[in-house]
Amino acid sequence: MNETMNGGAEAAPDKHLRKIVIVGGGSAGWMTAAALCVATKRENCQLVLVESDQIGTIGVGESTVPPIKDFNWFLGINEKDFVVSTQASFKLAIQYVDWTRIGHVYFNPLEGLGFSELAGGNADLTIPAVYQYLLKLAVHGHSLDLKDYSMCSTAAGYNRFDHPKNAQGSTFAYAYQFDASLYAKNLRLYAEHRGVERIEGKVADVVLRPEDGFIDSIILQSGQRIDGDLFIDCTGFRALLIGETLKIPYEDWSHWLPCDRALAVPCRSTGPLLPYTRATAREAGWQWRIPLQHRTGNGYVFSSKFIDEQKAADRLLANLDGEALDSPRLLKFTTGRRKEMWTKNCVAIGLSSGFIEPLESTSIHLIQEGIMRLVKLLPDRDFSPLIIREYNGHIAGLFEWIRDFIVMHYHATEREDTEFWRYCKYMSVPDKLRFRMEMFRKHGHISIDPSEGFRARPWMTAMYNQGVVPQSYPPLTDMFDDHVMRTEAAKLREGVLRTVQQMPSHEEYIAHNCKAPAVAV
Ligand code: FAD
Repeated sequence: MNETMNGGAEAAPDKHLRKIVIVGGGSAGWMTAAALCVATKRENCQLVLVESDQIGTIGVGESTVPPIKDFNWFLGINEKDFVVSTQASFKLAIQYVDWTRIGHVYFNPLEGLGFSELAGGNADLTIPAVYQYLLKLAVHGHSLDLKDYSMCSTAAGYNRFDHPKNAQGSTFAYAYQFDASLYAKNLRLYAEHRGVERIEGKVADVVLRPEDGFIDSIILQSGQRIDGDLFIDCTGFRALLIGETLKIPYEDWSHWLPCDRALAVPCRSTGPLLPYTRATAREAGWQWRIPLQHRTGNGYVFSSKFIDEQKAADRLLANLDGEALDSPRLLKFTTGRRKEMWTKNCVAIGLSSGFIEPLESTSIHLIQEGIMRLVKLLPDRDFSPLIIREYNGHIAGLFEWIRDFIVMHYHATEREDTEFWRYCKYMSVPDKLRFRMEMFRKHGHISIDPSEGFRARPWMTAMYNQGVVPQSYPPLTDMFDDHVMRTEAAKLREGVLRTVQQMPSHEEYIAHNCKAPAVAV
């Protein structure tokens, strides 16, 4: 406010953040740096990122969920450039193999939508009604393939892809399978070009302000001291600031999600480029298969209580499509989250804030949510406790629904063929999840909070596909005339198939629109 506007009163002291220090340069660090360049453009805030080449990054994380498109849009990154520069392919679904029982295969589509042209274009009304009707059929003992009613699942099954804008009348979501280390590299260029200062070095010490325990500065091994107003902890599993220094405890969820190791290995691509990630259940965990343009990413996520590393490595290598391009790399983790992701003047983003195993490809999404929430709530140097509370509540809620969605896949299984699967089938699950599953099984209702990102249909599809079949359906379903609903359901199924049959193959789409240069692998 200037003098004329406030009648000569003294201007309020400027409490804007003057300097933000990001510690860590993995996907989390560079995504944060890039987004803060945009968000603090007008504030004249200095941005510094410290990373250590000596320590390196975790370097896996290849499958994503649709909101990553919004993040790229926020940064002004165009889709073609993104796909070409990260060797990306498109992702419509996750294929679950052997989860319910051995030999059972289904898709979790990235959405459950089909057509907007139904009911005079009001898909929001008609499609949920069709799904309710399908539930009623299931209650009456009809065996349904929900795949037929989903554009994503049907296109994935036929190995086809088109941009939704070309698939007339339809609405469907998609994401990418990409090389996350190339993405981080590109974001580094993006951020440095916009003024982020990168400092190479290993943090040796963290200095706290004696009066309030806020972080004052970090000291590098070289002796360099870096001070700042806000510190973002992107140091990965080390959690150097939030954990080691500020002692925020970690909530361990491994009793619900017992996998604590992964072996990751890329292999040469063989066969067609599929528009989906595959998750195949194994004796003590599951194996991922993520096809990129230049290679295929693979990994065995397993519980060290139920299988040893050598056996897991043998199993992984025996189940690759093509020649392994490296030896398997072991990663250790504990599923869970920090009790608080933001404390004082430190926000943890990425693996330092917590980790949920990668079954639903949600870690990069959690990074994105953390960043965008921070950007929306950007504090000043007063660090209002209200802002911190709002942030922690939102991110904690997100961690919990992702956790429950994943736990459901392990728990709702018929498998009892190994000790691992017996454990998962009979373990106790979080209360909210138990309630959700019982509600669906007994009454056909999907219980969701208004704030939940995952809405009813993904839960319904996933639970039904995992073998949770409702015993009754919501009475409101009978309001719809059976004949009308049968016709609507057939229209949806036929419309989905017709549209998918007009799509090019995934490979053709990429060849015409966003082929990445061949690289030696
Ligand atoms: P890191 O990559 O570990 O980076 C940490 C940074 O901190 C590095 O730059 C390091 O140099 C720096 N650092 C640490 N200590 C110091 C220090 N003392 N001084 C200076 N610098 C320091 N996510 C998905 O979305 N999809 C997936 O399919 C997926 N698959 C995954 C599979 C596995 C097995 C695992 C473990 C993770 C997977 N993820 C996935 C998660 C994804 O890999 C991570 O979320 C992502 O890489 C972010 O990591 P990060 O930046 O938090 O940490």
